[in-house]
Amino acid sequence: MTEVQTRFTTEALVIKEMNVGESDRLVTLFTRDYGIIKAFASGAKNIKSKKGSATSLLTYASFTIKRKNESYRIYEATPITMFFGAGSDIVVLTLSQYFCELANVFAVAGTPNTELLRLILNSLHFLTKEKRYPPLIKAVTELRCAVISGYSPNLIACDGCGKFEDDIMYFGIIDGELKCQTCEKQGEYLPLDRTILSAMRHIVYSEFQKLYSFEIPNDKAKILSDITGKYITVQTDHKFSTLEFYETIKE
Ligand SMILES: [Zn+2]
Repeated sequence: MTEVQTRFTTEALVIKEMNVGESDRLVTLFTRDYGIIKAFASGAKNIKSKKGSATSLLTYASFTIKRKNESYRIYEATPITMFFGAGSDIVVLTLSQYFCELANVFAVAGTPNTELLRLILNSLHFLTKEKRYPPLIKAVTELRCAVISGYSPNLIACDGCGKFEDDIMYFGIIDGELKCQTCEKQGEYLPLDRTILSAMRHIVYSEFQKLYSFEIPNDKAKILSDITGKYITVQTDHKFSTLEFYETIKE
């Protein structure tokens, strides 16, 4: 019997890395063409190796991968963008890792998810390169990730009476619906002022090109970030370990 061996090239973000033995590394790649792939990189721990830096967490690179049966091995890797450099603080690093965890949870093996990859790459860019306010980029990433992954809230109007906006509207964390002050609410609802509601509507409904093109005051961004973090956790019923750590270090 002959073994099936193929070689292919794809761009990918390294979303997880694990050292194996003396000099091997097992990396989880969020690839542009094949979704999630776990691949071995031989000799990757050797810092002189060109493969070494390209297989580090938070690196976006072009990978040539050899597939032998069900096992993948990185044959060649050329870095395109590194999202973690000197000067990044613990909050930025933790959120970067959180974005990788989101990708790892929502992307699947064998199926491309270019919308999610584009979101994660852009969020890493605005967080680490443009130095945008971390809670704001976190909120954009969480809520848009929820939309892409089938957990979109309905923020068009009050679910009960159709009222479009008010000084305070209420957001149902469990059913993802909006309610006005007077309509009946069951379950847990969080109050949204006009600024936060319009920011959430922007994140959910805007074209991708305009997704990051808005600003709100930092104190509102923090509230928004708490809401979106809670929403994605409740909706997916997933325990994000990097998010839990972020909660302990956020300002
Ligand atoms: Zn109503």
